[in-house]
Amino acid sequence: MTELPSELYGDKIPVPETAERIHRQIVAKLTCLEESNFSSCLDSQFRVIFNDVLQLFERYQKLVLDHSKITCTCDKGCCSCCFHWVEDVNSFEAEIIAHYIRENMPDKIPQIKNSCIEDQAELERLYALVQEKLTQEQDETIDEIDLLLSVFYQARRLCPLCGSDGLCMIYPVRPLTCRIYMSFSDPGLCDPSYINDEYIPTYLLNLEESANDILDRLHFKYQKFKEDTGLRSLLIKYLRTIP
Ligand code: SF4
Ligand code: SF4
Repeated sequence: MTELPSELYGDKIPVPETAERIHRQIVAKLTCLEESNFSSCLDSQFRVIFNDVLQLFERYQKLVLDHSKITCTCDKGCCSCCFHWVEDVNSFEAEIIAHYIRENMPDKIPQIKNSCIEDQAELERLYALVQEKLTQEQDETIDEIDLLLSVFYQARRLCPLCGSDGLCMIYPVRPLTCRIYMSFSDPGLCDPSYINDEYIPTYLLNLEESANDILDRLHFKYQKFKEDTGLRSLLIKYLRTIP
């Protein structure tokens, strides 16, 4: 097993100046998206600029990792992390993903929608069980949602957008929440059976606050379904609406 350098536990990987420069470009692109006031996030120019942001973010992450000399062990077809109930998806990302599915794999829409509906039903069933268990135990130290997400992960229901080959079917437009999640350890440790292990092998290599603040504002600006940031639950709604 590759050990995560101890100085990174609970800490943030340092961002070199080269990556900070890229981050400033990301903020500039996001500011442009905000100020351009597009009526829809499906506007082709919105999607071009947001795609630039995603490309820059890939460069940013690579520069941060290269500088740190830490090896990310994520690889093509490795998909245990796709058992997660993917949360914190921006409204415009979900709408762009639904558009991408419509454009590139219309024949898969019924299958994707059905899997999303089944997964959401399972999440609701598990939520009732979690609530019952917490009421019985009266343990206020356990976070209800954390427990629910952990239980869902252990149910091993692969994301409906993960192909049978383990590859993400919407890879070019996959949400930021999937992009920031990475491992520096043996990929086998990402298996749900290790979720309660004290050793945490994953890391979130996220954007800085200056970019995330703009993303939040864009999320609210293009939001069509309030208080929903789940990838599966949003896809059920976006795939049934005609843009
Ligand atoms: S986070 Fe873990 S399961 Fe996901 S791609 Fe990386 S190594 Fe594989
Ligand atoms: S969107 Fe793609 S990367 Fe994210 S969980 Fe689904 S299959 Fe995995």
